[in-house]
Amino acid sequence: MGRPATATINLDALRHNYRIAQQLSGSGQVMAVVKADAYSHGATACATALADVARGFAVACIEEALELRAAGIKQPILLLEGFFEPSELAMIDWYRLDTVIHHQHQIDALEAHPLDHPVRIWLKMDSGMGRVGFAPDAYQAAWERLRAMPCVKDVVLMSHFACADEADSEHAQQQLETFNAYTQGLPGERSFCNSAGLISLKEARGDWNRPGLLLYGVSPFTEIHGVEQKIQPVMELSSAIISIKDIPAGSTVGYGSQWTARRPTQIGVVAIGYADGYPRHAVNGTPVSINGYRVPLVGRVSMDMLTVDLTDIPNVQIGDRAILWGQDLAISEVAQKAGTIPYQLLCNLNRVPVRYEGVYIPGLVNLDRVDA
Ligand SMILES: *Cc1c(COP(=O)(O)O)cnc(C)c1O
Repeated sequence: MGRPATATINLDALRHNYRIAQQLSGSGQVMAVVKADAYSHGATACATALADVARGFAVACIEEALELRAAGIKQPILLLEGFFEPSELAMIDWYRLDTVIHHQHQIDALEAHPLDHPVRIWLKMDSGMGRVGFAPDAYQAAWERLRAMPCVKDVVLMSHFACADEADSEHAQQQLETFNAYTQGLPGERSFCNSAGLISLKEARGDWNRPGLLLYGVSPFTEIHGVEQKIQPVMELSSAIISIKDIPAGSTVGYGSQWTARRPTQIGVVAIGYADGYPRHAVNGTPVSINGYRVPLVGRVSMDMLTVDLTDIPNVQIGDRAILWGQDLAISEVAQKAGTIPYQLLCNLNRVPVRYEGVYIPGLVNLDRVDA
């Protein structure tokens, strides 16, 4: 079936992780964050697999929301960045989307183009992220302006953490205090937590929590936390060994001849590279899992291939599977070796066919079912 590089998505694991998120949320509801094509897991597939349990889905923009509506998703869908121009309001209205409002210009637009159907607004405060959202002392006025509009059904009080993935983050505590102080007395549901906040900041869990990474079975923390034991990685990125050769000590491998064999070495070539989203900056020694053993990456990652040292493991054959990340090998570890975060590795996934396991969704490529 051609090039062996594949991302296998386990939708049962996704459902399992959703249940964990729901447990952590207690009586609060979970809005599954499926922006950026569900962190490359496939937004339509993931939303469909969660459709019977998820209370809502969050995406970055209207294009992503329309894809979900087209796939038949009926739950609330939240635009996390809101709308970019007033022309989107007609679609927000037609497709009954929820929208964040983070800036005055959005309130002005809504006032100028009232919607036919009452809309739920998520009013965002910049409580310390320093990016989007109303300043705390401008928040209440924004809230009052929205409440005065007949087309506004509810206003959810919302903010976003900057440092919830750091252990004992004082900054996160400070943000929560600011948020609570400036929303005191305002009625309405509240929403603060991303994955890291949901896992580590009990007191921040609100009426709505917004986990993304956690649902895909990846911990947002760089340190061991405990949550890794409960969740299951949803994506496995794998390919296969396409060449094995023995080289003498002193030979070099790959572009830039940047790695030199110190001993007679067996080099394996894996058919995956940075064009597939494997990080080019992964250093020598980054683990790759082959036949249950971990072997080190050696030499530079190229566009379509990478090289590993097979010397210390037995009997590798052409065609043996190589796992780049997944159940056997945490993507966080690879990210660390490449000087980046798992979010970026997932989002950079490219070119590889995505195949689904678990929940059956008609119309999706599920090679288990179409192979004759
Ligand atoms: C992306 C995003 C999330 C989800 O973040 P994770 O760290 O993946 O859980 C939650 N809230 C907002 C506003 C986001 O943009």
